[in-house]
Amino acid sequence: MVMGKIHSLESCGTVDGPGIRFVVFMQGCPLRCKYCHNPDSWKISDGKDISVDEIVKEAKKYKSYMKFSKGGITISGGEPLMQYKFAKELLKKCKDEGIHTAIDTSGYIEIEKAKEVLEYTDLVLLDIKSYNEKVFKDLTGVSNENTLTLAKYLKEINKPTWIRYVLVPGITDNMEDIENLAKFISNMDNIEKVQILPFHKLGEYKWEELGYDYELENTPVPSEEIVKKTKNIFSSYGLNVE
Ligand code: SF4
Repeated sequence: MVMGKIHSLESCGTVDGPGIRFVVFMQGCPLRCKYCHNPDSWKISDGKDISVDEIVKEAKKYKSYMKFSKGGITISGGEPLMQYKFAKELLKKCKDEGIHTAIDTSGYIEIEKAKEVLEYTDLVLLDIKSYNEKVFKDLTGVSNENTLTLAKYLKEINKPTWIRYVLVPGITDNMEDIENLAKFISNMDNIEKVQILPFHKLGEYKWEELGYDYELENTPVPSEEIVKKTKNIFSSYGLNVE
């Protein structure tokens, strides 16, 4: 029996992939994004033990919703690929059940491990926190090398991918960085869309509860103008933007 550590389950998610989705939030993340709204998912040891079979059994209850809405299952986090063996087994079993599979990942994993999971993944939601190495490191605490390697591999195998970009004033709203990212992904035919996610502070209270120092206390949400400008850059490279 393959066991894993999860943060929580959501039976009818609508924001992590197409249609109505059964979302598995895995526990554990090697990144420390300054804007993280789930810092309680960071430490793997805080997770709840669960087996792949238990999740599949639960997810199957929602198959009619998935079918009618063209939805499926999404593994999110935390970082779902941190427990890649578990993710692989779960998605494999879901595919056997005819369920559409997606992962929502930061791409921070060795490519050989990611490949194992991708074999059973229909759609990748790839969060690229920044194209600028320095900004990425400053924001997340790690390098963007794995993420960019994964992006290139997804192109190579023509895996349907949505790129997600969190727009944070003063950190990821540098137009040159955004343009460089747009350029980088513009020749990837596997990219179905780019989603711009404006920064929000809904998780701030969790940082306080956990006794972590929330650095973005005084960071505002991005203005409509900046959001529009950002979207226009991606569109100008022929990308489908949401
Ligand atoms: S990758 Fe996601 S879960 Fe991990 S720190 Fe960043 S925002 Fe939080």
